[in-house]
Amino acid sequence: MQELCHWIDGKEVKGTSGRFTDVMNPATGEVQARLPLATPAELDAAIASAERAQQVWGATNPQRRARVMMKFGQLINDNIDKLAEIVSREHGKTLPDARGDVQRGLEVIEVCMGTPAQLKGEFTDSAGPGIDLYSMRQPLGVVAGITPFNFPAMIPLWKMGPALASGNAMILKPSERTPSTAIALAKLAQEAGLPDGVLQVVNGDKEVVDAILDHPTIQAVGFVGSTPIAQYIYGRAANNGKRAQCFGGAKNHMLIMPDADLDKAADALIGAGYGAAGERCMAISVAVPVGQKTADALIERLIPRIEKLKVGPYTAGDDVDFGPVITKASQDRINALIASGVEQGAKLVVDGRGLKIQGYENGFFCGPSLFDNVTRDMDIYKEEIFGPVLSTVRAETYEDALSLVIDNEYGNGTAIFTADGDTARDFASRVNVGMVGINFPIPVPLSYYTFGGWKKSAFGDLNQYGPDAFRFYTKTKTVTARWFSGIKEGASLNFKALD
Ligand code: NAD
Repeated sequence: MQELCHWIDGKEVKGTSGRFTDVMNPATGEVQARLPLATPAELDAAIASAERAQQVWGATNPQRRARVMMKFGQLINDNIDKLAEIVSREHGKTLPDARGDVQRGLEVIEVCMGTPAQLKGEFTDSAGPGIDLYSMRQPLGVVAGITPFNFPAMIPLWKMGPALASGNAMILKPSERTPSTAIALAKLAQEAGLPDGVLQVVNGDKEVVDAILDHPTIQAVGFVGSTPIAQYIYGRAANNGKRAQCFGGAKNHMLIMPDADLDKAADALIGAGYGAAGERCMAISVAVPVGQKTADALIERLIPRIEKLKVGPYTAGDDVDFGPVITKASQDRINALIASGVEQGAKLVVDGRGLKIQGYENGFFCGPSLFDNVTRDMDIYKEEIFGPVLSTVRAETYEDALSLVIDNEYGNGTAIFTADGDTARDFASRVNVGMVGINFPIPVPLSYYTFGGWKKSAFGDLNQYGPDAFRFYTKTKTVTARWFSGIKEGASLNFKALD
């Protein structure tokens, strides 16, 4: 049995706590590795050396730090297949999808190559007589990133890129279910020239997370995960005087207007609803067709597309559409939610439960499920299912559909499919959701914009990546400087007293 490590001071370090958790292979249901869970004392040591390393790194000029990002990006690109394989092995997503996971993280590193421009301050010449005013952005010191299982490459890269390029050191605590990608990335960062100690990967569970939140040296916490934990982390970090940006769960709706191209809308729903087994915070989990005719025509198009989906292990080839869910507990929870949907009166149009794949009978597979006639009060509507289950809520009018999105407690992403520009503009303007797609089902903004939800999908301020991230990971210092009139008489050849 492979025993995984932490990454401290530029090398793999074994855990000393004696506590371990199993890292599963979701396709087979077998344990593939043991992961050490760090103690607060191990964290303390990692933070102490990160603090020393940060002093040198933070004083390194921004362009040199950007060069490390350039090399890092190059190495990620060169190793994309290897990284994708590590992602798939622990997460279970298909290799093309895992490559996308790495790619969307790499794109943030690409923007970090331009960090010097992001860190430029402001300057006002002659703000008063002999007075100049200027601001500078300085690193915070040692910061922490706490990341979820579902994007083992992308989200750690979203955290470490802007934090490190801004001159901070980072303690990264990846998900204990998909931990190996973080270590692989740390090795590449070292090869790119990142000094040892600037990026420490500390594995663990709640015990080490709580120690991070309480540690006086940690200046900021960037968290991504489920809403209850995001809210908890935000509260505890803020209470300890830290900056915190905590991104939570989602329930993303897609409106389908009567004038939409229904084939395109159905294709979009298949990708956004079932891709990565629905384990994406930007997955569309609720389809909202407007009008009964639209709903009937949409369901009619979805069924044959769903029936064609191929579920299997990532090793079975590129024609697999999605893999298993992450744990047995997750599989059981999804099945229980489907049962509750049936009990509460929704129509289960396609039932994905009970899927068995030959040779992988113990894998955590869930087939694709489709519900029709879902209503606001049902558990399948209220809960983030985080599985391959698409719910259809029929709306009579555009206003009904819009109010459904507005009233939902989550506000990560949403989309509208329509041929009418005016409806699309109205939707984008009025909806209270952070990321909006127009004829685009998963509107994850590109890396020079910024990513973040509203309502219970995010706690704190400033988004992930893009200009917001550089603000989050730096603090502003503003200098007011006055110089009294100088001598200005030119060179003197006489030897005279300094009075
Ligand atoms: P999770 O909340 O279970 O875990 C996230 C991190 O928190 C992990 O590192 C975990 O070790 C830690 N953690 C878990 N329980 C904790 C506790 N009680 N105390 C302290 N730390 C704890 O989330 P997950 O299951 O890994 O990821 C899936 C969730 O993440 C979904 O809800 C999904 O929507 C969300 N997500 C959100 C975004 C976003 O940007 N908004 C992106 C990806 C995933």
